[in-house]
Amino acid sequence: MNAVHPSHHGRSIELHDISKHWDQTRALDQVNISIPAGSFTALLGPSGCGKSTLLRIIAGLETATEGTVKIGKEDVTRRPPDKRDLSMVFQSYALFPHLNVAENIIFGLKTRREPKKARAEKLQAVAELMGLEQLLDRKPGELSGGQQQRVALARAVIAERSICLMDEPLSNLDAKLRHEMRMELRALQQKLGFTMVYVTHDQAEAITMADQVVLLNQGQVEQIDTPRSLYETPRTIFAARFIGTPPMSLFEASVLGDMGQQLERDADTKLLVGLRPEAVRPASEGALKAIVSAVEYLGADTMLDCKIDGELITVRTSGREDFTPGSEIALSFASEDLALFDKATGARLINLKTD
Ligand code: ADP
Repeated sequence: MNAVHPSHHGRSIELHDISKHWDQTRALDQVNISIPAGSFTALLGPSGCGKSTLLRIIAGLETATEGTVKIGKEDVTRRPPDKRDLSMVFQSYALFPHLNVAENIIFGLKTRREPKKARAEKLQAVAELMGLEQLLDRKPGELSGGQQQRVALARAVIAERSICLMDEPLSNLDAKLRHEMRMELRALQQKLGFTMVYVTHDQAEAITMADQVVLLNQGQVEQIDTPRSLYETPRTIFAARFIGTPPMSLFEASVLGDMGQQLERDADTKLLVGLRPEAVRPASEGALKAIVSAVEYLGADTMLDCKIDGELITVRTSGREDFTPGSEIALSFASEDLALFDKATGARLINLKTD
């Protein structure tokens, strides 16, 4: 990638009180997000939560009903897309059908007056990176969906804009290629220094790539955090359920017996209690008694679904141990690993002592 240099650095994006309504639909509701220059920010959430709408508002393809968009220090709320210095990759990648792959990629180059040699070098470098060297002469109609997607990525990357917006850009790739492309995209973004805003519904993708994850839920910001904080300290039941495969187990405090009762008295409210699968271990004594309801052998790990009073607790154990469905098991955990949520509001109780 030596031929592709950072032409200039990424710029910051500020979204202030952004709302978007269509008749009955409130797609976004008072969204405030600060995206640092040169960062990789993932917009994450289930289908229909407003991710694409938000991205299109940043792009200028959609106008917010209320609120302001700033890029760098400038208010760009009313500025058209081509005046925002950004490149975009969408699920429908809109390649030019009559141009071959090379021409499609080069089309995005910002300075088309650039010497032919420099342009060819950049094309070569990007094509190599995206695994497109053998396909440069083909037309989009002669490519698979995954190949077309890679051409669109190459075109966006070579454009060297200060901001790159991507909406589920890896959705058409198979699992192995998707994994490789995650790493490549992340490395490239860091190397070139542009600001990336990346829409995905895939929490693993957001967590592995982003500096900052914006978790959206029904048009509102649920939590903005680093991947680690989002995983370790989800602020709501929604965030706890959305992040992690398998997700955090959430169950009634009564499962914890006396301890659970004490916690609910201290909190003065009904609780949902959370434990990550890796925070629970099979133990010989002193712990929760459960029944193993399902065993999923994954090679390195074995996931156990355990039932206590009808509540489910997932346990990640070493793949070397054997467990039988239907058998009794004792489980232990460290009290500091318990996450406590107000069952009524969904909010996490942060300062309640758990010991
Ligand atoms: P996501 O990208 O998270 O799947 P979207 O931003 O596409 O969500 O959509 C958010 C909400 O806005 C959805 O309820 C969707 O149906 C609605 N929506 C999106 N675009 C339009 C539109 N052009 N007209 C009316 N409603 C829309």
